Amino acid sequence: DGIWRLSKLAVSVQNDPGKDFLGVSDGLLQEIAKAIKFPVASMLPPEAFSVIRKSFDARKMLKEAKFVYTVDMDVSELINLEPRTIDFISDLEPRVGLIEHMPLERVSGDIISIIQDCKKVEGERLLKEGGANGYSCNAGTYKYTGSRKPKIVVVGSGPSGLFASLVLAELGADVTLIERGQPVEQRGRDIGALMVRRVLELESNFCFGEGGAGTWSDGKLVTRIGRNSDSVLAVMKTLVHFGAPGNILIDGKPHLGTDRLVPLLRNLRQNLQGQGVSIKFGTRVDDLIIEDGHVVGVKVSDSRDQQKLDCHKLGFDAVILAVGHSARDIYHMLLSHDIDLIPKDFAVSSESFSPISRVIKELDNDWSSIHFFGLPNYFVQNTIYSWYIKEVGLRIEHPQELINSVQYSSLSTEVHRGRGKIPVADYKVASYVSREDGKTPSTSGPTSRSCYSFCMCPGGQVVLTSTDPSELCINGMSFSRRASKWANAALVVTVSTQDFNSLDFHGPLAGIDFQREFERRAAVMGGGDFVVPVQTVTDFLDGKFSVTSLPPSSYRLGVKAAKLHELFPMHITDALRHSVSVFDKELPGFISNEALLHGVETRTSSPIQIPRSSDTYESLSLKGLYPVGEGAGYAGGIVSAAVDGMHAGFAVAKRFGLFLDGI
Ligand code: FAD
Repeated sequence: DGIWRLSKLAVSVQNDPGKDFLGVSDGLLQEIAKAIKFPVASMLPPEAFSVIRKSFDARKMLKEAKFVYTVDMDVSELINLEPRTIDFISDLEPRVGLIEHMPLERVSGDIISIIQDCKKVEGERLLKEGGANGYSCNAGTYKYTGSRKPKIVVVGSGPSGLFASLVLAELGADVTLIERGQPVEQRGRDIGALMVRRVLELESNFCFGEGGAGTWSDGKLVTRIGRNSDSVLAVMKTLVHFGAPGNILIDGKPHLGTDRLVPLLRNLRQNLQGQGVSIKFGTRVDDLIIEDGHVVGVKVSDSRDQQKLDCHKLGFDAVILAVGHSARDIYHMLLSHDIDLIPKDFAVSSESFSPISRVIKELDNDWSSIHFFGLPNYFVQNTIYSWYIKEVGLRIEHPQELINSVQYSSLSTEVHRGRGKIPVADYKVASYVSREDGKTPSTSGPTSRSCYSFCMCPGGQVVLTSTDPSELCINGMSFSRRASKWANAALVVTVSTQDFNSLDFHGPLAGIDFQREFERRAAVMGGGDFVVPVQTVTDFLDGKFSVTSLPPSSYRLGVKAAKLHELFPMHITDALRHSVSVFDKELPGFISNEALLHGVETRTSSPIQIPRSSDTYESLSLKGLYPVGEGAGYAGGIVSAAVDGMHAGFAVAKRFGLFLDGI
């Protein structure tokens, strides 16, 4: 009896209906039959099986590319089979390897249903006890009846701010969500004006606005914090609740694309407003109001009207700061209040900051052994997520067909620009560069660096992510079909405080100054008007400058031939060159006249961390302040930011007594 999980079931491309089919095909039934050693595949009832994960594996070492499945088998659905079959099934145990019994108590739903279920259980318990502790209940419902609801402000409507708001609203707080940018509808128009008329709205662009930095993005939902962790599953199921397609729960490399993110965000906004969350778009938090070492509110102004200097003061019991890492003004504001900001590499390497290093070590050892406010395991993992270092680099773009043929050889004809049987090809490359590998070994930087591809966007386009017209930085986005002619990815090299110091940037904001320096150099190289400086990979390797025969670029605001090999300090350029040669061995054709480097990619992760308690999420230097998400240094992508915001929401709820025993 029970559920058995069958993994690594490989179905050939000919026998599979294709990447968009997530049911149980005849080809899959045949592989299941082989795995459980059942003689006649066609006798197996498809309803006994559910697909848990489907990935496409085209690694070179395989004889042929395959779809690889993980499937759950419900043994109770097999009871009507003839006795011989039952014997086969009951004999599964000895064949364990690809087969595993699943007694797991998994998260059964999205965050809303988890909280609702807990409220119901809590309501029934309190009803039995006759009501207690400031909660009044009638059967199956739950209501906070303390003297007044805690007033919480969430600053920033990126994934971390949205998930913190959702949890707090569900748990009964009085939530105000403040966002300097515009709702997605207006933000879409502002981005349109940028792409067509080169008008950069300083407060509504690729970084600022509803949904945060990831809204006009590739919407990749892959995360380094444990795909199968229950926190990640709860976030993914919540995305489905708000309109993401169910296949993100199954696809080995889930992604949404901008076209799906926009309606999802609209649904989430309506849900929050329905719960009484007051959402203030076009409103920028400029300062914190602090009394007796405790934050008691925020000063805000109209972000669209720069003439309006009169700041409004708003009082709150707690401030959740979820502003992302492009809100550089906020870092300066925090410093003016003596709030600790530490460079990322210091956060991890310094033994003096033991809470973070300790938790990271614990997380590495055993995710599930850490307990978070006595939550059951599904909210336990990933209380701290940290990126060890910063990186800078360039964005490389190839024709997508070239990447398809490098990755899939003859199968590349099956891609059909996102409409075919197999997914549009991506890649992930990484190399380790020691000082000796570079022609110009650095004397000041670290002894070794890593160089890797990051945020690869198959079938995507290069976009402008500057928030200031004197700076130029780029990133990648795509639509759900990934149908464009191009494949782009950041190629970045790790840098550290030593690199910042070598350019005479010191102090907690040295990493930001370092980013800004190269963003300014890139703007100058491009010649202004958001024109991006570019160079073919071959010219970059040879240190050549050719103005003619540039391959086309997906970047819509224009490109200009430039000497990108002179943009960074020589040891960074050398590390990039060395790595590109290594990557070409792995992906022959990576070095090509058709491959175009774009400058610069600087905002891959936050160079700063705002220290906070690993238990309460409260800032270590200011009571009542809760720094979360990427800008605070605790996330590095859409999903990890959402997970961090969700955990912070629970931490703040607990602090104000909104917490339920059952959660
Ligand atoms: P953000 O998403 O940056 O949100 C912060 C919000 O705070 C913003 O909306 C901002 O307007 C608001 N804000 C800032 N300052 C203030 C203030 N003073 N007052 C009021 N509001 C303020 N990640 C992935 O996982 N997959 C991808 O495919 C992917 N693609 C990307 C593509 C692009 C073009 C970009 C720019 C990023 C991409 N990322 C991707 C990264 C991802 O978007 C971020 O890691 C994630 O959005 C961080 O979430 P966050 O909530 O911490 O901050």
